[in-house]
Amino acid sequence: MKKPVYLDYAATTPVDPLVAEEMVRYLTLDGVFGNPASRSHAYGWQAEAAVESARKHVAGLIHADPREIVWTSGATESDNLAIKGAVAGKPGAHVITSMIEHKAVLDTCKWLESQGVEVTWLKPQPDGRITPDQVEEALRSETVLVSLMMVNNELGCITDIGAIGGLLRERGVLFHVDAAQAAGKMPVDVTATPVDLLSLSSHKVYGPKGVGALYVRRSPDVKIEAQIHGGGHERGMRSGTLPTHQIVGMGSAFARAQELLDDDMARLEALRTRFLDGLSSLDGVSFNGSAEARVPGIINLSFAGVDAESLMLGLRELAVSSGSACASATIEPSFVLRGIGLGDEEAHRALRFSLGRFTSDEEVDFATSQIIEVVGRLRSVR
Ligand SMILES: *Cc1c(COP(=O)(O)O)cnc(C)c1O
Repeated sequence: MKKPVYLDYAATTPVDPLVAEEMVRYLTLDGVFGNPASRSHAYGWQAEAAVESARKHVAGLIHADPREIVWTSGATESDNLAIKGAVAGKPGAHVITSMIEHKAVLDTCKWLESQGVEVTWLKPQPDGRITPDQVEEALRSETVLVSLMMVNNELGCITDIGAIGGLLRERGVLFHVDAAQAAGKMPVDVTATPVDLLSLSSHKVYGPKGVGALYVRRSPDVKIEAQIHGGGHERGMRSGTLPTHQIVGMGSAFARAQELLDDDMARLEALRTRFLDGLSSLDGVSFNGSAEARVPGIINLSFAGVDAESLMLGLRELAVSSGSACASATIEPSFVLRGIGLGDEEAHRALRFSLGRFTSDEEVDFATSQIIEVVGRLRSVR
């Protein structure tokens, strides 16, 4: 069977072949398989050196100090560690987040609510962004943490993290940013942006699944409480034997992302234009999320008179998504689209097309011709 054209890069990316090639050298007897925490022999030292080199690469992409990087199992764990770790031991704490965060943030904040923490859920602007004014208005003297995503995974819109970080720094409120969809897609610079905690995932950036990182600012020093105990790895913030091959993969993927950032962004911008131009003959197409403040690879569109479920069924030769991968097990309309004010029916008409490093012009052309054909067919049978 011919595989469908992959247009779901926001759900996950394939591992870059160069990254995969490097990873296999960290598994077997003839490779670097030692425990990076083994201090008494060369097997351990070599593994530790590989982990520290990867730490530099991950730090490099976001302009952090390597000592500010804590390895985790992915952005879900990073979000949990940042949010629970920042609130732990602070009775009466108030947290601010938004209604359109990733489930890893939403569900963590809901759990905190069940534990008596007060949470304010900001409603985004119709373009999917949270404004600094909204955050400022929600601040209370008890606010200890604000958690917002940099780039929304369904809409691709970019929230002005710099401006929000600036006002939170003045008030002494911790700022956690989920940057899983920003890293490798746009410049992320923690020296220029006052964030305290920032979540990263490897598999959104052409690295392997099952590894991620949390940036924890050192100056001013940010204190969070560990959520996984045992052994005191990662400066006590996250225990557990480090998965050397996964970490090497993430490091290699992030080094490559830094090297290719300008190229990747320019290519994706061109592919996006090609995609939207390709659909220009189709009317009743509307764009969800900010048209200006957005990353190029994520395109969320609604097709008037056509529901996304039927469209997806018709687009069998394209791998696309009607929401986030985690939410697509249900036929509930996306909470993100409802969060930006779309009604149930409108939300049911939206599809997300996400393009990436390996998307070709031919694939984009094939996709647009398929979409035009299937939308036309579905509209004609109504
Ligand atoms: C994918 C994603 C996550 C979860 O990352 P994992 O590494 O899969 O746990 C969290 N936040 C956002 C915005 C994401 O896109």
